Amino acid sequence: MSAGGYVGRFAPSPTGRLHMGSLLSAVASFCDARHHGGRWLVRMEDLDPPREVAGAADDILRTLEAFGLHWDGEVLYQSDRDEAYIEALEKLVRMGRAYGCACTRKELEGHSVYPGNCSRGIVGGRPARSVRFRIGGGAWSWIDAVQGQQRFDSGDIGDYVVRRADGLWAYQLAVVVDDLDQGITHVVRGADLLDSTPKQMALREVLSSGSQTMCWAHAPMLVNAGGQKLSKQTFAAPVRPSKAPELILRALEMLGQSMPTEESRTDWVANGDVAAVLDRAVAQWNLDAVSASAIHWQGEGHP
Ligand code: GLU
Repeated sequence: MSAGGYVGRFAPSPTGRLHMGSLLSAVASFCDARHHGGRWLVRMEDLDPPREVAGAADDILRTLEAFGLHWDGEVLYQSDRDEAYIEALEKLVRMGRAYGCACTRKELEGHSVYPGNCSRGIVGGRPARSVRFRIGGGAWSWIDAVQGQQRFDSGDIGDYVVRRADGLWAYQLAVVVDDLDQGITHVVRGADLLDSTPKQMALREVLSSGSQTMCWAHAPMLVNAGGQKLSKQTFAAPVRPSKAPELILRALEMLGQSMPTEESRTDWVANGDVAAVLDRAVAQWNLDAVSASAIHWQGEGHP
């Protein structure tokens, strides 16, 4: 572990190229880790081949490098982690915290929370399709370093899928197993994942040795003119490495950080000096200045 014990991470899914929303999360988590003298890891969340785009994983890594966001150690690929996920699932089953579920999507239509049909065993000898985590009662609360006090009732979450009906691992299980195994201490990611946090807290409690704590920070989401989250589905444009210094400066501005002088900005942009932009950003980094609310992003040409 690094001095101070801080270990952060950026965990992209290779479903497309890096867009401004993902760059914003990467910059926030990188600056927070480096400001605290911590390690910053990259984990490729390539769990879902049908949604992946050929070449996207390499493209994301090359883009991070071009933006000066250099990670520590080897990239961890979730596609290599079957054994760890099987072990975790077996532990959950042994502890009575996971169960097979035969429900089809159609049967669950109209339910935002799983109604618990299979939680006491599958009725009628049907085969299990997926495996669900038994969340139990109570509530999950934490003080998010950006979004403030959060509280979610287990009853509003319900038992959720950890192994999908198509045989793939669910994001929630993989992310918790990997965050624990990689010794992650600080998660700084986009606010679109805020409601995943209580699910991950619940799983962590069962899978961890109990001594591993986590600090959570959910950076503002970037939304397009229509108020939709920037994503591949909303045709968010990929960030261009040739614009790296400008785009990092734009990200820092959106993250509420103190900005360099006009003279330095002009100089760094003209020289393509991402290292200078990031060195200053890391030194001045202030997570308290990051706003909780979503930010409109119209693209590179429209400030
Ligand atoms: N792979 C997830 C995504 O790209 C992020 C996971 C995380 O940061 O926990 O949305």
